[in-house]
Amino acid sequence: MDSLIERVIALQDMTPVFIALYDTDDRLRHANRAFREAFNVKSDVFPTWGELLRANYHDKKGLIITTDDFDPWLLSAQSRRGKLPFRGLELDLHDGRWIWMTETVQEDGWMLCVGSDITELKQNQRSLRQDRDIALRAAQTDELTGTANRRFVFAKLAVQIENVQKGIESPFGLCVMDIDFFKGINDRFGHQGGDVVLRDFVKIAHSTIRRSDCFGRVGGEEFMLIMPRTNLAECVGIVERLLKTVSASAPFPGVDDFSYSCSAGLALYKPGESGSDLYHRADRALYAAKQKGRARVEWLLE
Ligand code: GH3
Ligand code: MG
Ligand code: MG
Repeated sequence: MDSLIERVIALQDMTPVFIALYDTDDRLRHANRAFREAFNVKSDVFPTWGELLRANYHDKKGLIITTDDFDPWLLSAQSRRGKLPFRGLELDLHDGRWIWMTETVQEDGWMLCVGSDITELKQNQRSLRQDRDIALRAAQTDELTGTANRRFVFAKLAVQIENVQKGIESPFGLCVMDIDFFKGINDRFGHQGGDVVLRDFVKIAHSTIRRSDCFGRVGGEEFMLIMPRTNLAECVGIVERLLKTVSASAPFPGVDDFSYSCSAGLALYKPGESGSDLYHRADRALYAAKQKGRARVEWLLE
């Protein structure tokens, strides 16, 4: 019958787990087949760890070492190697595999390295992360126009108010906009024609607002614009510029007799008020703009 040690020797050469043993001088004294294959070490050579890595770096095989200058890189890696009784680290190989490698160190400096292939786990992790990013983006985006949706702009409004309360941001402006006679546009051009106008409006808005402003679609043909660190005169200027560009726009090529307009209600944030209070004040201003004949911006000081 095989002795126990023979079993261990046979099995460690069969396993896909990576096994290596280094002595006090950090010279490889034993490595199983999987390890030698992964790190490109022939069965009859016993390099030091530094020599092994230098060869990997030079041949672009085995471990991926991302540096322009190998020697300082090795020095820094060596300064951290074998200093703890145990550590684990992720390694990536030129052949695309990822390894979770562990290092167990005896007091006299001998080190046992045992690693497993975690490529599949890493790929799952990456695709999960990508899926999450896509889902998050979808949850914050208006599908029809591609701009931010109601959820996103209201969340941004809450953050903006928090920042004012913390004293980070000075008061800011909120504008609610609603396209005029939109029902009539739908009646004339059909629902798809209405959608073209919504996209046209969004395109104009994004080309007019500043990087720090937050714009989004909050309902059918209703939009919201948050303007941080902006006083009333500046807010009015931005919104008037937007309304002017909208009125000059011709969203249907060849239909020269068509133009559309938008009404806007503006309110400046008053310290202490809630997001929905502010929104309601802007909405009241919007109502006033509609009452006064549309295609204009109105604002409430109180
Ligand atoms: P006002 O000037 O007073 O704002 O009049 P209006 O016609 O714009 O307002 P109203 O609220 O009466 O009509 C809004 C219309 O918007 C009704 C609805 O069918 C249409 N609508 C809502 N969502 C969409 C959409 O996603 N696409 C299109 N094409 N139309 C939409
Ligand atoms: Mg409308
Ligand atoms: Mg409306």
